[in-house]
Amino acid sequence: MSKTRRHLIALAPAITLALGTSMAHGQIAPKAPEPATLKANADLAKTLPFANREDFDDAMRGFIGTTPDALVPGAGPRPVWTMKPYDFLKKNEAADSVNPSLWRQAQLNAIHGLFKVTERVYQVRGFDISNMTIIEGDTSLIIVDTLLASEAARAALELYYQHRPKKPVGTVIYSHSHADHFGGVKGVTSEADVAAGKVQVLAPTGFMEAVAGETVISGTATSRRAQYQFGPQLPPGPRGHVDTGLGKKIALGTVTLIAPTSTIDKTMEKRVIDGVEIVFQLAPGSEAPSEMLMYFPQFRVLDMAEDVTHNMHNLYTIRGSEVRDGNLWSRYISEALEAFGDKSDVIIAQHHWPVAGQARVVSLLKKQRDMYKFINDQSLRLLNQGYLPGEIAETLHMPASLEQEWSTRGYYGTLRHNARAVYQKYLGWYDANPADLDPLPPVENARKTVDYMGGADAVIDRARGDFAKGEYRWVASAMNQVVFADPNNRAARELGADALEQLGFQAEAGTWRNAYLVGAMELRNGVPKIPGNNTANAETLKALNTEMFFDYLGVRLNATKAEGKTMVINWSFTDSKQQFVLNLENSALTYVKGRQAANADAAVTLARDTLDAVTLQRTTFPDAMKAGLIKIDGDPRKLDELLSMLDTFKVMFEVVEPKPK
Ligand SMILES: [Zn+2]
Repeated sequence: MSKTRRHLIALAPAITLALGTSMAHGQIAPKAPEPATLKANADLAKTLPFANREDFDDAMRGFIGTTPDALVPGAGPRPVWTMKPYDFLKKNEAADSVNPSLWRQAQLNAIHGLFKVTERVYQVRGFDISNMTIIEGDTSLIIVDTLLASEAARAALELYYQHRPKKPVGTVIYSHSHADHFGGVKGVTSEADVAAGKVQVLAPTGFMEAVAGETVISGTATSRRAQYQFGPQLPPGPRGHVDTGLGKKIALGTVTLIAPTSTIDKTMEKRVIDGVEIVFQLAPGSEAPSEMLMYFPQFRVLDMAEDVTHNMHNLYTIRGSEVRDGNLWSRYISEALEAFGDKSDVIIAQHHWPVAGQARVVSLLKKQRDMYKFINDQSLRLLNQGYLPGEIAETLHMPASLEQEWSTRGYYGTLRHNARAVYQKYLGWYDANPADLDPLPPVENARKTVDYMGGADAVIDRARGDFAKGEYRWVASAMNQVVFADPNNRAARELGADALEQLGFQAEAGTWRNAYLVGAMELRNGVPKIPGNNTANAETLKALNTEMFFDYLGVRLNATKAEGKTMVINWSFTDSKQQFVLNLENSALTYVKGRQAANADAAVTLARDTLDAVTLQRTTFPDAMKAGLIKIDGDPRKLDELLSMLDTFKVMFEVVEPKPK
């Protein structure tokens, strides 16, 4: 790993957004649940085993203590974390504007504190969307996952120290490459202590590449879409934000990263860390591209990272991601069951609560194994019979034996979008119907459709009737057409928002509820006038290796501006000793590593640190040249010309309405 990549980076993850919680003045408030919503929620409540309170016992087992509301103050007026706005969930009866099953999960996710799992194994839960697991070594602490925000991680460790001996942190383990598992690392250790060798940082193989890939190359789009998945701008409340399914919400603090000092490269690798034996089972391509599970033989504890939690997880996340392999995911659980099932008294994960008792551990593993296998195989069975994604989503139902299990309910992923994900993985976006091969783009399609339907007024009129009948899925879809035909049609925007809102009130998945309610909010009030945090930022760019950096330049190249241009630039990095030829022709930017071209228009010699300084806007190319940090041979204007052809991405693009012309 290069020196550059070892640098500490402050990373704004796909799931971080600095947005106000309160509604701005003049915004349209949420409405009440409609009769059809009340009925749907009441009907669902009758089908589920609410009398089974085992999860609440499990979630409270080993409770040691907590701080009021788990409050973690921030630098500004807005706290990094607080459970206070979720006090409304203390009412045992679900609010009529919340799916009762989601309400129950939201109550479980509101429990916070320090918990003893077993001798020498502790967890802090409810201080961020994820858990911090703390293992007591002979002389130091081993911390598995450091939450999303460093302020939250610091508070979690302080809570632990209030109740347990103050052993220093000696090891940090990242279970996987998602920011809610590493972002708080600076809250429990420092770059200096890691550099000095006082603290080691362990991660699964491919960790840094996975972090960079997910947060930069398509990072601007996922940053915007994550606002829909997590809903941080929704005010907490029965008609607003309730939960994410996987945890209460995302902390709004400082996201950091210290690159691993060592990676686990072989599955079932065994290490002894400060007297603690750990068996690492690699699980790449399951919930994250780089992920590992951990077994602690001395404590008979199995940590399933994020592969076995108390909900159905995502084969595809609606914030946007590469599709995950349900078959592989199931196989890893099966492997863990075979290897550790009969030797585990407790199962923990990096979200949700533990389950104690060997038979119960096995039972949970089996159900989760079968859930992912079921989704994968049954979706494939139906697609092989020619069913289309939407038909598969509509047709599939979990078997009754899993349907009645709280731990397999779709609070984060859903059967419907996961079934579509399997189709996408194997067959892609095209459904093989040539009518769908090259349809008109959304705006033209919407204009024609609305016109054929007799014009906007006629469509809205009929849709009002369907709204009254509770046909919200159709009304949302029809109003989407009218809005795309004419985004200034106020009546269509409001009726569309009303339909999305009712869908949100009915949704069992926290993620779907958030998406619907954010959509409603934006139809009513427009795209929020905020910059929106972008994970593809100067700090994450700094973490990229130079190949990935050039790849990202290629993604930013504006083809129109590059039309007809050709350019060859030699790059030579004085610190990493790497050389590249960057080539522009046919509006495509490519590179070759380890070479310099004889016919280059310009040759740039600089340190990667200098390139990072320019990226971080601490300096500019001209200033760096004046300071002697960059040497350019040949035509210096070529570099300016290249930079002038690059687009800068903005997070807050339109989602529920067309882009302005
Ligand atoms: Zn997570």
